[in-house]
Amino acid sequence: MALVSMATILCCCWVSAAERFDDGELGEIFPLAKNDHTQLGRLLDTGRIALHHSRNEEAESIFKQAIEVDRHSVRAHYGLAYAYFEQGRFAKSQGEALECTFLDPRNNRPRLLMGRCFEAMGRFADASAIYRQIINKQQNHAFDKRLAHDRLETIEGLSEHGDPSAERYGAIGEEYGGKKVNWDKSHFPLKVAIFCDPEMTDLIAPFKQDVTRAFEMWCKASQGGFTYRFVTNQAHADIVCKLIRIKRDKSEGNNILGLTKGDRDDHKINEFNFSRVEVFWDKTWNLAKLNDTVVHEVGHALGLGHSSNPRDVMFPYSMPPYAGYISARDRNSIRFAFR
Ligand SMILES: [Zn+2]
Repeated sequence: MALVSMATILCCCWVSAAERFDDGELGEIFPLAKNDHTQLGRLLDTGRIALHHSRNEEAESIFKQAIEVDRHSVRAHYGLAYAYFEQGRFAKSQGEALECTFLDPRNNRPRLLMGRCFEAMGRFADASAIYRQIINKQQNHAFDKRLAHDRLETIEGLSEHGDPSAERYGAIGEEYGGKKVNWDKSHFPLKVAIFCDPEMTDLIAPFKQDVTRAFEMWCKASQGGFTYRFVTNQAHADIVCKLIRIKRDKSEGNNILGLTKGDRDDHKINEFNFSRVEVFWDKTWNLAKLNDTVVHEVGHALGLGHSSNPRDVMFPYSMPPYAGYISARDRNSIRFAFR
């Protein structure tokens, strides 16, 4: 397929939600208590180290023990809240964070964590209310207020993707009131090529498997809305899926997991002509994250926009407990994309 006169490029990316909970932020509220040799101090340090290594269930059990030693310890409750959050148990996490705000009302970090739990549960009004509380506080906690502002902006940005409880979310092109852009039947079966950076030999097989599975999942969800086949030559492909090393571009942040660009012809602006999926890899990531990213990006390549509901695969931020699983709204949306 010759790629001549590509008009518009539609671009979507997926961002990791995990970076919002980096260890730095945890460390700030929760420094290691190296000189604290009491039973509580030792438990808090061990729990914190377990969290750092993403051993979240172990951390949960350690912080529960710490709470038994001292049920008024804010750090024990905060650690438990954090361990729950990392396991995707948002209601439990929110409850522990709330406990922290009773114990230490001046501390904003548990409030921020509560806000993030509400976001993760799709309760955006509750999350916004908490962020506004922090912003309107009398005391000047400039850094916390900036974090709260950033979260509010993110929530407001999500409203562009429509009502999170509607039957479906938008197809590409529909945002801002436009017409959907989709694949015309003349391209069927869609020809898909897979490319992996040859240096990442360990990942070639998992990546191929993930792309294959993503197309199977979306095709099944679309109820036969499209057909596809894999080709070896990228020049013959409608969709190319690439796995490449992440670009460490500070201006874009280091948390971009994937990027999909769709091209259209000048004279057929509501039809895709070509789509390129780029999935980024960093040695600190894991294979589950790779799979989740592939499902999301392939969704874009097929014509899906973003959802404002964290339970959908097409939510713009990776939400570990839901990522990778196609929801009822995802199914409705892919059917619409090919209608
Ligand atoms: Zn996206």
